[in-house]
Amino acid sequence: MGHSHITIHNKAFRPYLSAAQLDEAVTGLAARLSADYAGRQPLFVVVLTGGFMFASDLLKHFTGLCEIVFIRVASYEGTGSTGVVQEILGLREDVQGRHLIVIEDIVDTGTTMHHLLPTLLAKGPASVEIATLFFKPESLKHEVDLRYVAMEIPNDFVVGYGLDYDGLGRNLPDVYVAV
Ligand code: 5GP
Repeated sequence: MGHSHITIHNKAFRPYLSAAQLDEAVTGLAARLSADYAGRQPLFVVVLTGGFMFASDLLKHFTGLCEIVFIRVASYEGTGSTGVVQEILGLREDVQGRHLIVIEDIVDTGTTMHHLLPTLLAKGPASVEIATLFFKPESLKHEVDLRYVAMEIPNDFVVGYGLDYDGLGRNLPDVYVAV
């Protein structure tokens, strides 16, 4: 991997995880998923945009049959008692009775997953689990059941391997951390 700092939008980042380190974590997670879901033909629900590169590498190593869909999540404040309303965009498949695995780039405060899970569960799947590339345990604000975590990282801002800083950096094969 590159040994030098990079600059994105005038912000400096230093090398943090190499493509080889990411590959090892991702293929290890894929092996766990392949064993746990053998014969169950799961439906992977990839959360865009950040999850695209992780999902691609993870699913190449998933053995067995599966379906893959891509969604976006949009959240907004509801009126009065409804609180945060989470809308799922792009999920046209019938998920009733299916085994769902949500693929996320990173669980930070847990807010996104905290709101997405009930919305998915309301559609009547047989099961829902989360597979995340990164998890920042120190920033978690909501109780979220994370069965599949590729890597735990400290509470620092990272870019690369699908994750962006204000739109840039998603194409980087290594992960960088803000200095
Ligand atoms: P949460 O809802 O768990 O607080 O945050 C989830 C979203 O926040 C992620 O899907 C991601 O878009 C963004 N996020 C959180 N931490 C980072 C980070 O370190 N780097 C980048 N690029 N995005 C982050």
